[in-house]
Amino acid sequence: MSRPVISLRKLLAEHTAAAAPELVRPERDEALRCLACGHRCRVLKGRHGVCHVRFNRDGELRVPSGYVSSLGMDPIEKKPFYHAYPGMNALSFGMFGCSFHCPFCQNWVTSQTLRDEKALAEPQFVTAERIVELALEHGCPVLSSTYNEPLITSEWAVEIFKLGKPHGMVGSYVSNGNATPEVLEYLRPYVDLYNADLKAFQDKTYRRLGGIRENVLNSIRLLKKLDFWVEIVTLIVPGLNDSDDELKGIADFIAGVSPDIPWHVTAFHPDYKVNDKSRTPPDTLLGAYQIGKDAGLSFVYAGNLPGMVGNCEDTSCPSCGEVLIERCGFTVRRNHMNGSNCPSCNTTIPGVWEVGESQSD
Ligand code: SF4
Repeated sequence: MSRPVISLRKLLAEHTAAAAPELVRPERDEALRCLACGHRCRVLKGRHGVCHVRFNRDGELRVPSGYVSSLGMDPIEKKPFYHAYPGMNALSFGMFGCSFHCPFCQNWVTSQTLRDEKALAEPQFVTAERIVELALEHGCPVLSSTYNEPLITSEWAVEIFKLGKPHGMVGSYVSNGNATPEVLEYLRPYVDLYNADLKAFQDKTYRRLGGIRENVLNSIRLLKKLDFWVEIVTLIVPGLNDSDDELKGIADFIAGVSPDIPWHVTAFHPDYKVNDKSRTPPDTLLGAYQIGKDAGLSFVYAGNLPGMVGNCEDTSCPSCGEVLIERCGFTVRRNHMNGSNCPSCNTTIPGVWEVGESQSD
């Protein structure tokens, strides 16, 4: 039987470390300003932040360390990254908690732990060294902080990525994008691949999910400026963000940052508190795909409905139209790329295609 939230909270509080100095600022009366996510909580002594996992113990900000909620080897396409190391695996780990509380969350058991009594999961205690060893044993070139919101547990991810770097491993984040300039600067030496959600384009929708739209938009702009390899995901939830206006707003924004950013429009399935809506139909994804292309995006992908969206899972050359990578779901069926280039017209395709390569644009 799962342990109650109160004893899980006590257990996790024993497995913490001091926050990175870059991610905390002391304030009056022993309060601490946390800089790890866009909420910038002022955490009073004895209290925790909105995420429930970072807390002020006697004037020191304590942050999660030394455990995972889950650990697995995933195809990198599952993150999803479609322009980074195609067909390879990412050693993926998560902790608990999130800065948002989306009612349709598809990872809610780990993301809403400590906030929702029903979201009970057990930690597995593990060292950063062991995680890197596992990646080496299984030949994973990528380490990925995912399954919960990685920004709120950034110190743990950096501890792991630092150990992986001498082995040539690449760090990656799968995040809601609710970042701060401070946390992105802190991560940049260790994280090369960043997958950010852009869940909606209306601020009022973001506020229902527990965020502020502008924080996410600013983070995406900064991710690009700091030269992370960025891919964006929009989970299309019927009735929430599937209108043409909403999708056009998202697509135009991404194209304004860079038309080379891949945009993944993915299908929702009923989960967590949203069980009264039907799955996102293929036609909605195909409509979103077309909106993305009309906005000038070079790479748009329809996800979560394998084999049901024509060639919208494939990568094609934006110059000559040659099909470069054929996919079905998380499987790469054929990769025709010539290194970083189109084999037909030799156009360089933006992304990070081979181990040891730097980003091509
Ligand atoms: S990570 Fe975000 S939600 Fe958690 S304490 Fe820091 S600012 Fe608050």
